[in-house]
Amino acid sequence: MRDYMIRGTAAGERIRAVATVTTETVEDARIRHTMSATATAALGRSLTAAALLGAGLKADQSLMLRVLGDGPIGAIVAQADAKGHVRGYAMNPRADLPETAQRKLDVGGLVGRQGTLHVTRDLGMRTPYHGSAPLVSGEIAEDVAAYLAASEQIPSVVALGVLVDRDLHVLASGGLCVQALPGASAEVVADLEARAHRLPPITQLVADGCSPEEILTTALGGMDPFFGTVSPVAFRCRCSRRRVEEMLCGLGPDELEALLEQEGQAEVTCRFCGDRYVLDRPELVALIAGLRTGGRPGVM
Ligand code: ZN
Repeated sequence: MRDYMIRGTAAGERIRAVATVTTETVEDARIRHTMSATATAALGRSLTAAALLGAGLKADQSLMLRVLGDGPIGAIVAQADAKGHVRGYAMNPRADLPETAQRKLDVGGLVGRQGTLHVTRDLGMRTPYHGSAPLVSGEIAEDVAAYLAASEQIPSVVALGVLVDRDLHVLASGGLCVQALPGASAEVVADLEARAHRLPPITQLVADGCSPEEILTTALGGMDPFFGTVSPVAFRCRCSRRRVEEMLCGLGPDELEALLEQEGQAEVTCRFCGDRYVLDRPELVALIAGLRTGGRPGVM
């Protein structure tokens, strides 16, 4: 089953929800960044959260989630766009910790329990909308829920989970975000919270083969759920050779001459996806010549 997410409403549109399965997306991220088990879970939960928060974005809009904790993984960055494409990285992808006493991956310990969660929504306006909230546990789901409640004033239930096998392969990954909309009564909000406690772990649901629709049904059963739009989710980066050339051109001809002299080529690795771009000597020479004559790069 390819990864996708589904949006829905319940309780007469007083509740909105989105559920997703992201197993392939997170496995892709793990392989690209050569990640440890716990780092895979931390980045995987963040990528899944970005996809959930980004559900409903329109063309050219994007969302960036940054988890800046004081743990050994360092900063985590996850981005999502309107097409369900997510990309992201962790500063220290190989950082790891022993399992907790409950034999769980210690995501909270790896991320750190002190720090800040930042959410930036670029909605195509002059300035992006930015909000932040202190981390609660470093486990990501709780932190995102606390952010939504504090910064965006939306009572929310967020569940995220990544199950990693002994050989580091991602066995299951997914997430759920249920939100009470303005007008929802206190009883509806209380009911949501009670349901959140009864909900089986997302990893268990995904590992049992549940689809996003089934996850939504499990979360909203009895609340008259209505299924909405389905959209694919995948790890996809926006980097390209052209963007790398533009970035290099931004350094200016003198800097590029120096690079050519020292390295004989230019090598750029995309932080978001790990793709490597090499411009060899003739390509770099053409780029510099293009800049010297004031035109656009003459290569590619
Ligand atoms: Zn990239």
